[in-house]
Amino acid sequence: LNELSALSISNSFAALPPAFYTNLMPTSLTAPYLIDVSTSAAQLIGLDAAAFSSEDYVAAFTGNRVLPGSQPLAAVYSGHQFGQWAGQLGDGRAILLGDVATINSTGRIELQLKGAGATPYSRMGDGRAVLRSSIREYLCSEAMFALGIPTSRALCVTGSNQYVMRETPETTAVVTRMAPSFVRFGSFEHWFYNGQQDALKTLADYVITTFYPELEDAENRYHAFLAEVTRRTAHLMAQWQAVGFMHGVMNTDNMSILGLTLDYGPFGFMEAYDPRHICNHSDNQGRYAYNMQPQIGHWNCYALGQALLPLIGSVEETQDALKDYQAEYAKKLDELLHAKLGLQTYQTDDDKLFDAMFGLMQKDHVDFTLFFRQLGDFQLNDTATNNAVRDLFIDRASFDAWANMYRARLQTENSQDTQRRLAMHATNPKYVLRNYLAQVAIEKAQNKDYSEVHKLLRILEKPFDEQPEHAQYAALPPDWANGLEVSCSS
Ligand code: AMP
Ligand code: MG
Ligand code: MG
Repeated sequence: LNELSALSISNSFAALPPAFYTNLMPTSLTAPYLIDVSTSAAQLIGLDAAAFSSEDYVAAFTGNRVLPGSQPLAAVYSGHQFGQWAGQLGDGRAILLGDVATINSTGRIELQLKGAGATPYSRMGDGRAVLRSSIREYLCSEAMFALGIPTSRALCVTGSNQYVMRETPETTAVVTRMAPSFVRFGSFEHWFYNGQQDALKTLADYVITTFYPELEDAENRYHAFLAEVTRRTAHLMAQWQAVGFMHGVMNTDNMSILGLTLDYGPFGFMEAYDPRHICNHSDNQGRYAYNMQPQIGHWNCYALGQALLPLIGSVEETQDALKDYQAEYAKKLDELLHAKLGLQTYQTDDDKLFDAMFGLMQKDHVDFTLFFRQLGDFQLNDTATNNAVRDLFIDRASFDAWANMYRARLQTENSQDTQRRLAMHATNPKYVLRNYLAQVAIEKAQNKDYSEVHKLLRILEKPFDEQPEHAQYAALPPDWANGLEVSCSS
């Protein structure tokens, strides 16, 4: 493993014309310290997690000392927020250091310090991120990665005793995020709405050449690009739905051009199943409710399509690039639902089985994660074993009727209990980042005890493993968690 000084940083984004960003230094924090580091994220860029508590590392990943070779910058973007054109936004508290090589064949990855001080795009904000939201982003980024869902990564979190004002004073932190690119749908909208078609083309060519080289020689590369981003977004939405993840703020400035989950704020995982659940306390209209996510993903692709239209050339071709969203989403979701139920074949009435299941889950407020996990233990001939999943329902008779349908369906493909259990447990996580788990870790961290952040990450890194010694982390939320609210305040 490398020393920090051996990290060879370059900055491909900085090769874009100056209008795309502002060069600036992070603003130091007083006496920063390490909160936690992700061993696997560190390994990805060839660093040893054990070294992160040293002063050098803490200074580098707080922004107090700039790594050699990096050209820190804040990027400009715009976006639609809650369906309205919001104009210029930009990296108001994120500073891109540059990109480094990864140890595998995935190429280079950018390092970004979130919460590292004000930028020209901070507007009314202070450029900081509080400990609470930084821990949530850190844990969820790594948890989503472990779930196999495309996402930005989180390398580490550092903290300081410096306070900033939110609803109450809170201490600040910095998350080092990693992704091949942080370019958003809103980065394209920015140039379209400012009528700067040259800049729009420059950005599109940069993104295609750097991250979608296979599309460079397409007949209409901008059409191919929009079609591919549309496909990736549709698949990402299916993956979110299948694991019960709710992003909370699906504004176009939070939509990754690479189809990654990006900008973790007031996100949540579905617990008592309610398709209309709204995880973001500030989302009064429920625009970003769980059951809205797929269509909002589509809406956002249209916003991107609007911005790319001058490059693609015609409304018809732009619509053509967007046309497969619904089919791609449905195909991916269908695939994931079959896997979640341990079904190996596709049959005409499978939708009815799924709909009946979700209907019962909704009626009885069944915990999303527990249900799918325990369904993995379903046995064709042993009703005693099936009591665990049955007991999640209030209306046992309706569950039994559904279980009979499920059993009959499994028998049509000669399903074997042991094999199906293995397959289902490899796709239905036992452990997800429930809000209350994050909250416990945050409250300890606010008292300078970071052990729970560390422990929770270790558990979430293996979401499909039984980990019987940590079984309580898979339990239903305690009563006090009913009052938990997460909002955009971060
Ligand atoms: P978000 O809702 O976190 O996606 O942020 C929307 C916009 O507000 C982005 O341009 C952010 O950079 C900016 N922003 C959010 N919080 C702050 C803050 N504390 N200081 C400066 N800018 C911020
Ligand atoms: Mg954002
Ligand atoms: Mg944000």
